Amino acid sequence: MEKSKRQHSKKIGLTTKIILGLVLGIICGFLLQEHQSIATDYIKPFGTIFLNLIKTIVVPLVIFSITQGIISLKDIKKVGSIGAKTIMFYVCTTAFAVAFGLLVANTLNVGGSYVLNSSTLQSYDSAVNKVSLMDTFVNIFPSNFVEPLLNATMLQVIVIAIFFGFGIIKAGEKGKVVANFVESMSEVCIKIMEMIIALSPIGVFALITPVVATNGIAILLPLLRLIGIAYFASILHIIVIYSGTVKLFAGMSPRKFFKGMSPAMLFAFSSASSIGSLPFNLECTEKLGADKEVASFVLPLGATINMDGTAIYQGVCAIFIAQIFGIDLGFGQQLMIILTATLASIGTAGVPGSGVIMLAMVLQSVGLPLEGIALVQGIDRILDMARTTVNVTGDAACTICVDASEKRKLRKRAAVASLEN
Ligand code: ASP
Repeated sequence: MEKSKRQHSKKIGLTTKIILGLVLGIICGFLLQEHQSIATDYIKPFGTIFLNLIKTIVVPLVIFSITQGIISLKDIKKVGSIGAKTIMFYVCTTAFAVAFGLLVANTLNVGGSYVLNSSTLQSYDSAVNKVSLMDTFVNIFPSNFVEPLLNATMLQVIVIAIFFGFGIIKAGEKGKVVANFVESMSEVCIKIMEMIIALSPIGVFALITPVVATNGIAILLPLLRLIGIAYFASILHIIVIYSGTVKLFAGMSPRKFFKGMSPAMLFAFSSASSIGSLPFNLECTEKLGADKEVASFVLPLGATINMDGTAIYQGVCAIFIAQIFGIDLGFGQQLMIILTATLASIGTAGVPGSGVIMLAMVLQSVGLPLEGIALVQGIDRILDMARTTVNVTGDAACTICVDASEKRKLRKRAAVASLEN
């Protein structure tokens, strides 16, 4: 009890420190507008170090925590049942998120009346490699054990982890040694992540300062509409979809859910990394009553494949780019965006800035100019903070719902068994 109280106050301390880092970073950025090189040459490198540390731990953290999650479920049927529900929840909410992003961006006319000069349009398209949907699917499966780990190809890493988990379960007693190793490594990786997280106030400060110093508020103004609309759609999605699902499928009051989730949401907002937020998310969902074995499977999977915020962002940006380049998108093209953005968000790694890379795939699928990416890149950090918060909250909502449904199933089984006796 005493210990958990102490831990709690430590977490609150860190959250406050992160906010402080953010605010100080913004102030510092403003002050350094005339001396941008100080911000980019001396402050930004610390942000890069922080991000590199997160990227370093991503692969071991995901592989060991997903394998461990599968092993702790003990039987393959149970993994199948939880896995199917999880994937269903993730895919449905993500497809809805893109559609919602498109709807909001179209209705609120995200590009405004601003249309880029047509000469800017010249150089796009032909240089772009077209990636087919089928290739994207085939690429989920690795042809080699080591390469995906080296290149941090996250979907392939997940496939490896799943096969490993199943292999260990099937090996039974003989797999025990590996199972113990995985369990211990997963603990160690979480501890390493916690150490990196402890550095996040400095990391957040060092990341935000150069953004404000180099962009300034003036350059943000034309893009403020995009930011406003992306934030609006994200907040609405969080309120409607996650309140709705936790209430409907788990009978949990949205108030309780958001209150319990606030440390993880705040951390997601300031770190812009779903993977980095994983330890916070595990703790928050467990405090909300989710079983550890469910959370440790659903959350790491979500941190790598479930990105509703990224999907909203891709929908909103696609419409923004189409509008400012004066291109009309038909209904069929918008459907195509829903399909590719759902896939793209699944392939987006849960680290800062990766959503913008996958945006290229979405733009390509409907022939939108890739130059558009350069426009939104400048404000990516600000957009990333909102989309990561949605991503992380979505993972937690799914955990709460799947956990409740598994518990319902167990209760039903117990009731049937007691009737039979
Ligand atoms: N930063 C996001 C995340 O970690 C991914 C993205 O860039 O969209 O969830």
